[in-house]
Amino acid sequence: MSAHGDLIEQLADVGRSAVAQGLVLASGGNLSARLPGSDEFLVTGTGTYLDRLDAGSFSLVGLDGELRGGNRDRSSEWKLHQRTYLVRPDVNAVIHLHPQYCVLLDALGHQVRLISLDQAYYVRKIARVPYFPSGSDELADAAAEAARGCNAVILGFHGCSCLGDTIAMGFRRAQNLEQAATVTFRCLQLGNTDLTFPPEWFERLATV
Ligand SMILES: [Zn+2]
Repeated sequence: MSAHGDLIEQLADVGRSAVAQGLVLASGGNLSARLPGSDEFLVTGTGTYLDRLDAGSFSLVGLDGELRGGNRDRSSEWKLHQRTYLVRPDVNAVIHLHPQYCVLLDALGHQVRLISLDQAYYVRKIARVPYFPSGSDELADAAAEAARGCNAVILGFHGCSCLGDTIAMGFRRAQNLEQAATVTFRCLQLGNTDLTFPPEWFERLATV
C-alpha cells in the first residue's frame, strides 16, 4: 500500500472512532497527517464526515500553503494544521476535534485536570488559546505558538488540537484529553476542586 493509502486508512479509522466515541459530531473537526519526511500533508476536505472518510476526502497541501492535489476543497481549518507542522518538525499528525467536555470546562474557566495515569502520561501538559474565528490566521498562529511547548491545545469555545509523532499517538492524546475533561467535570460535580495525578509521581513519568 502507498504511504498515502496507509495514512488515509489510519485517519479514516480515527475519524470513525472519534465519532463512535462521541468525541465529535460527524462533521466537527478535521484530521491531518504529514507525508513521511516531506513538506506535504494530507488534510480532510471541507464538509467531510469524519466517520465516512475515504481517499476522495483528502486534500494534499504543502507546508508553503499551496494545494498540491487531492480533493480541491480542503478544510477551511487547514492553516491550523499547516502552522503547527511548521513549528513542530517532530509532529506528523494533527487531530483537531470538537469534544464537548473539553470545550465546556474551558469556557467555564475551569482548568482540565490530568487525574489518571493514562491522562498524565499521554497528555502531560495542556495549553489553551482564546476564541478566534475558525479558519483564521489568528487561530492557526495562536495554536501553533501554544504547540511549541505541548501536544494538547484547547481552542477556546471551539475544540482541541492534539499532536503526535504518529496518528495513533495524536488520537490517544485527544481521547485522554477529553476523558480528563470528563473526570474533571465529575470531580467538580462532587465538590472537588483540586484532585490531580500525584505531583510527586507526575515528574517521574517516562517521557513519551
Ligand atoms: Zn474546528
